[in-house]
Amino acid sequence: MITAHHLKKVYQTGEIRQEVIKDLSLEISEGEFISLVGPSGSGKSTVLNMLGCLDTPTKGDITINGSPITGMNRTKMAHFRGENIGFIFQSFNLIPVLSVYENIEYPLIMIQNLPEEERKSRVLTLLEEVGMLDHKDKTPDKISGGQMQRVAIARALVTNPKIVFADEPTANLDTKTAHMIIELMKKIQREHQTTFVFATHDEKIVSNVDRLITLVDGEIVADQRMNK
Ligand code: ADP
Ligand code: MG
Repeated sequence: MITAHHLKKVYQTGEIRQEVIKDLSLEISEGEFISLVGPSGSGKSTVLNMLGCLDTPTKGDITINGSPITGMNRTKMAHFRGENIGFIFQSFNLIPVLSVYENIEYPLIMIQNLPEEERKSRVLTLLEEVGMLDHKDKTPDKISGGQMQRVAIARALVTNPKIVFADEPTANLDTKTAHMIIELMKKIQREHQTTFVFATHDEKIVSNVDRLITLVDGEIVADQRMNK
């Protein structure tokens, strides 16, 4: 599903050059629920952004579903991302002036331009799946953080992506809500049969994943497959 070979990422800020990822290779199979753990600053977001077509590696190759994404121009990459990838962020990134319903519908209008009936049915199905149907007409300021993340999960899934990346999706939530969100992500991942990679600095909240990858200073120091 995803192969990454010899990735290197260098950030250059003015005079300061920082090599965050030196030589990282990784394969991810279809349908895996993976947690990427590691301390803050270890490069988790950098890896997710490269695999998720939000940023390009300085060196190395990434192939997703047989398509080489390194070498694509920005427009092609954005299009590829829209068709194949969903993202969930720590700060939810909902659009404040749109309702819950409209936030979930937004990628379908912006990216996939589906007919109205199909849009409606997808949005309503996901609203139901994440338990937010009763709140569909509220704007984000009228719902809790946990509920905002439910909406963000629905929004990430609405385009039927093959892969979903979640970057610290529970970092702004209390422990109980964090566990509920992780369970919801798992449920949704199984129902939609997507591949799922979720990054967190908080190893304590990770349980019951297919695979646990540990990143320290930009290097994979452990890659464990969990038996269930
Ligand atoms: P994590 O997600 O594990 O906390 P990051 O990938 O965000 O780690 O960051 C890894 C390192 O790269 C950090 O030292 C961070 O300061 C640096 N970094 C991340 N993004 C940028 C950027 N856009 N420009 C410059 N440095 C960055
Ligand atoms: Mg991060």
